[in-house]
Amino acid sequence: MTFTAGQVLLEAPQAQTMVEMMAKIPAVVEQAGSGALHLEAPAPAAPLQDQARLHHVVMGAGPGGLLTALLLAQAGKKVTVFEMRERPTNFYGSFPVVLNTRGLQALSKAGTDIIARIKSIARPVDSIGIMNKNKTVANTPTYGMCIMRDQAMALLLKEVEALGVPIHWQHKLVQVDMNDKKITLERGGESISLFVDGCLVGTDGNYSKVRRECEEKAGLKVEMQEWGLTMRFVKAPNPSTPLPAEVDGSCHYVLGSDGYVCQHPDGTWSMSYGLQEGNPDADIVNATEATPENVAALRRVMEKQAAVFLKHVFTDDEILKGFFDSKAFNGHILRCSTLAPTDWIALAGDAAHAVAPYTGEGINSSLESASILGTILAKNGTVNDYAAARDVDAQAAYEFATRNKSLIAGNASQKCASTFTMAIVGLLKKRGCVRGTIRDFTLGQMASTEDRVWRYSELVELDNQQRKCLYPTGQLCFPICCRCCGKCD
Ligand SMILES: Cc1cc2nc3c(=O)[nH]c(=O)nc-3n(C[C@H](O)[C@H](O)[C@H](O)COP(=O)(O)OP(=O)(O)OC[C@H]3O[C@@H](n4cnc5c(N)ncnc54)[C@H](O)[C@@H]3O)c2cc1C
Repeated sequence: MTFTAGQVLLEAPQAQTMVEMMAKIPAVVEQAGSGALHLEAPAPAAPLQDQARLHHVVMGAGPGGLLTALLLAQAGKKVTVFEMRERPTNFYGSFPVVLNTRGLQALSKAGTDIIARIKSIARPVDSIGIMNKNKTVANTPTYGMCIMRDQAMALLLKEVEALGVPIHWQHKLVQVDMNDKKITLERGGESISLFVDGCLVGTDGNYSKVRRECEEKAGLKVEMQEWGLTMRFVKAPNPSTPLPAEVDGSCHYVLGSDGYVCQHPDGTWSMSYGLQEGNPDADIVNATEATPENVAALRRVMEKQAAVFLKHVFTDDEILKGFFDSKAFNGHILRCSTLAPTDWIALAGDAAHAVAPYTGEGINSSLESASILGTILAKNGTVNDYAAARDVDAQAAYEFATRNKSLIAGNASQKCASTFTMAIVGLLKKRGCVRGTIRDFTLGQMASTEDRVWRYSELVELDNQQRKCLYPTGQLCFPICCRCCGKCD
């Protein structure tokens, strides 16, 4: 049986827009701001004997892995999940993610109750404000639900556990034997080897061991590049004093190419900040001591780009000190030559096609792949059917992320050409010559009024058409533009 991504995605109600679909979901049951979800751990899964045989195995209990496991379990398939971390009981933290129509549609495959729960805890995101040197230079209407990554995980985990799927926490994959279809995991101080009779699903994130094993032992080709910036995170409580209109919790603020500020579902604000190498202020992002000098230096850096947030949200030094305690993080944008490196292994989510946070598609693309894979395997399809349905879009997601990277971390000529292209396309849109852009159909409000979710391959094709002449023209104009304005650098 061969599936196409179109077939799988279009199983959602055909003639309804996403907004219509969402409107049918039961009313909000909790207010945004409800904070942590508490989930008591069920009785632990019975420990596995060394050399035991399993059917489908999902490696990694992130959003992608849990959705795959849920769809398989709902279809009555035997599935076992392994996760290297401990099972939490209070789920809130990590970092905020925005679920857009792609992610929401993927989740709706597991039943509308999950969407209703998301609506009840999420903070709607209505716009993205692009700021440059303290000025809002653009404000784009968007459609999305801001929740913490761990909240998304908790909602899925609850469903997976309710179906009795065995989840083995604190089991870390260390090896895959390609010939014997065997995996080796570390638990506590010991290691166990297990046979996989069905499929091994690699949803083990950006640094995926499943992917690395396939690269080393199964000829998988992986193209990988860094996000282009190392980020730090600082949080602030929601101020008790009223905030000015420029500080609006339903807007996500992009601070030029340096980071973003947003409000979490519980009201907390955060700023993710990442200066690129070569930026004269980059040292502050690498400093780990909250000394008065470093705090003062951070204040000076923020004054250049985020003064309004400094004045109203990240107000005192105690708050800013948190920046230096936060762990610096970065990651990779990557693509694989195929999502089915062998006839029994499938890769999905960040393991397969990680983008960067500034692309805004990480959790959404992960959930979409998981929903396609889960649906195919649930109908007795193969990992090759999945690759046939999804490879082209995984490749396109990489193109999409790479273009975003050139906007955020590209050189001045790339930034200038992108800005020029966006400005002209924006004008053409106003005149009705262009219906929408890649951003409109992903995080823009238009995405919610379409009768379907656009595939990444379609989006990149659309973007190619729009950039064909404009981007090279922008690059040609760069020397003149840069001399006149110099804002792209
Ligand atoms: C700061 C930040 C902001 C972000 N913002 C957004 C956003 O606004 N919008 C968006 O769409 N996305 C965003 N993302 C990306 C999004 O969080 C990820 O794309 C998403 O979590 C991917 O889900 P996943 O299930 O594929 O992988 P993950 O969430 O990474 O889960 C992988 C799981 O596998 C486990 N694991 C790893 N190795 C092993 C092993 N060897 N053995 C067993 N288990 C293992 C891990 O512990 C983890 O639980 C952001 C990411 C970051 C870091």
